[in-house]
Amino acid sequence: MQIIRSIKKIQSLTRQLASDGKRIGLVPTMGFLHDGHLSLIKRALKDCDIVITTIFVNPTQFSQGEDLSKYPRDEKGDIQKIKSAGGTIVFIPKVSDIYPDDFDSSVEVLSLTQTLEGESRPTHFDGVTTIVAKLFNMTRPDIVVFGLKDYQQAMVLKKMSTDLNYPIKFIIAPTVREKDGLAMSSRNKYFNEAERQEALCLSYALKTAKQMVKADIKDCKLIQKEMKAVIKATCKTAKIDYIAFTDFNSLAPTKVVVKNTICSLAVRLHNVRLIDNLKLM
Ligand code: AMP
Repeated sequence: MQIIRSIKKIQSLTRQLASDGKRIGLVPTMGFLHDGHLSLIKRALKDCDIVITTIFVNPTQFSQGEDLSKYPRDEKGDIQKIKSAGGTIVFIPKVSDIYPDDFDSSVEVLSLTQTLEGESRPTHFDGVTTIVAKLFNMTRPDIVVFGLKDYQQAMVLKKMSTDLNYPIKFIIAPTVREKDGLAMSSRNKYFNEAERQEALCLSYALKTAKQMVKADIKDCKLIQKEMKAVIKATCKTAKIDYIAFTDFNSLAPTKVVVKNTICSLAVRLHNVRLIDNLKLM
């Protein structure tokens, strides 16, 4: 497995690989990897000869007051994990190379970024689309794999890629969960055992929503009310940022659960902000 830190090197290597006819897969991450990230690498390996995993804690997608400075890092452990998942290249660029002092550009998706995460974190998606466009230009992948866990992010990036004519196939891979239902996240590391139990409020709420839909209750207001009750019963101090019901493809809000409705939520608990989602139909 090759570890590359230089932008020039990754550009010349990927150009060479492409001219050798290799199919390149890309898995962008912020590191502190868990099985959810590794599932993306394994998925990319199914369709590609070469899988590039990037590790870059992207400062521009964090707003002031968010957890950039304490975001967990473990480069050595990450490299081992990527190797054991079968990854072929790890790209770990420096912040100063990605954003030199005179960096002055931004890639923006206009509409899809106005709701859900975009509403709670106004500058977040511009940071995400800009870094991913840069990574696309550096690695020129045939395929990219993102997690459904960050569903809106995947849809925003897909739109950016289509609008800017990147010839890249998008794969959105399922959310990997702990046995008890907690969606794997690098941020789970912030919790002690008792807090981690309370973090189950998100998956419990989504499970409740799914059960209600199965019982033919499809009014989003009713479902949301129950979800709020479940969250409060599991974690008294939880602060709900949003519980939203939208169409999977357009992200348009819906009042009634229909085919392709996805429920997304963001909750703050014990100074950590978690997100999760589940397709209800
Ligand atoms: P991050 O390092 O958190 O920025 O995530 C990098 C990629 O991993 C994104 O495409 C995420 O959606 C994906 N990801 C994060 N958590 C999970 C999970 N539990 N299951 C599947 N994919 C995930």
